[in-house]
Amino acid sequence: MIRLSEHLLLGTEQQYIADALSQDHIAGGGKYFRLCNAFLERETGAACVRMTTSGTDALEAAALLCGVQPGDEVIMPSFTFTSTANAFVLRGAKIVFVDIRPDTMNIDETKIEDAITGKTKAIVPVHYAGVACEMDEICAIAKRHGLFLIEDAAQGMFARYKGRSLGTIGDVGCYSFHETKNFTMGEGGALLVNDPSMRERADVICEKGTNRSEFTRGLVEKYGWTDVGSSFLPSELNTAYLFSQLEQADRVREKRNRIWNKYDRAMRELEKNGALETMRVPPHCEHNAHIYYIKVASAQKRAELTRYLAERQIVAAFHYVPLHSAPAGRLYGRFHGEDVYTTRESDRLLRLPLHFNLTETDTDAVIDAVRGFFKT
Ligand SMILES: *Cc1c(COP(=O)(O)O)cnc(C)c1O
Repeated sequence: MIRLSEHLLLGTEQQYIADALSQDHIAGGGKYFRLCNAFLERETGAACVRMTTSGTDALEAAALLCGVQPGDEVIMPSFTFTSTANAFVLRGAKIVFVDIRPDTMNIDETKIEDAITGKTKAIVPVHYAGVACEMDEICAIAKRHGLFLIEDAAQGMFARYKGRSLGTIGDVGCYSFHETKNFTMGEGGALLVNDPSMRERADVICEKGTNRSEFTRGLVEKYGWTDVGSSFLPSELNTAYLFSQLEQADRVREKRNRIWNKYDRAMRELEKNGALETMRVPPHCEHNAHIYYIKVASAQKRAELTRYLAERQIVAAFHYVPLHSAPAGRLYGRFHGEDVYTTRESDRLLRLPLHFNLTETDTDAVIDAVRGFFKT
């Protein structure tokens, strides 16, 4: 059986977790918390990275940091995971969905400005499949209207836009280390705080509303409740687990890229015959081989291909059901403008298996099966 995704396990995780367990403290904020923060700061160029308990929690921390309140509106694509919206719904905001671009499946930057009202507080671009949104245009819109810009870069670690790491371009960026992502700690995430004026408060929000981080740095004599906040620091067991993988990041990235490129070469051949469409990565975007998807003619065709692959022990899957058509999406959000591409394009999209454990034989089998389907 060739699975869609398998969690990354390099074999060194247990040793790092054992070391974490031998420390005096295993709660958040220790040695491995600092090592992961520093690694990500160095890798991305972000001035301030804080590990969190999940990507969802990084988004919730971002919503608190930007002071999103009841009555506010937050603009995002509908083709995304529930957490992108929930983080702001939890603060009482209304979600305003705008259409995506058919090429990258990312928010259509040309449709954002029309969705802005006097209540708009923030724009949340989602870098789907680790392919960047058009950030120059989106940054300019946010600036022009005085809006917060929060990047959902849950899938975007190690991906770049015009040379800049995803998650470092907006006021705040959010990463995920869920088991389905390129690097994992089971459940986990990171908050990238790019706006210097938000940094102190980010620590307070992540540390249960206390100024404990000032206390640990010796800046105050005792710490107490200074603001709203939650318990967003991951335990040392989880950050140790992730850190062991980050140290071997090059090896993981090389392998994923190799699989992605192999799929792309083969699928481009099929594209020439009009069988399918391949993933589009604009030349100024550097992806991270998080997902490889193809698009077929219709939802019907996709169901047939999925079944054909399943019969050959290969798991391929569609992705998000657009949020605006989900029950909670109808309750907490509205779609601004016309849904030209969101539903149509998400109905045609199929992800091929992509994970570190895939062998050459596996990828060949997937490619042969897709070819076989289009020959019949
Ligand atoms: C994975 C993901 C999240 C949520 O991250 P968790 O770590 O699972 O909480 C949010 N947004 C997007 C786009 C994701 O892919």
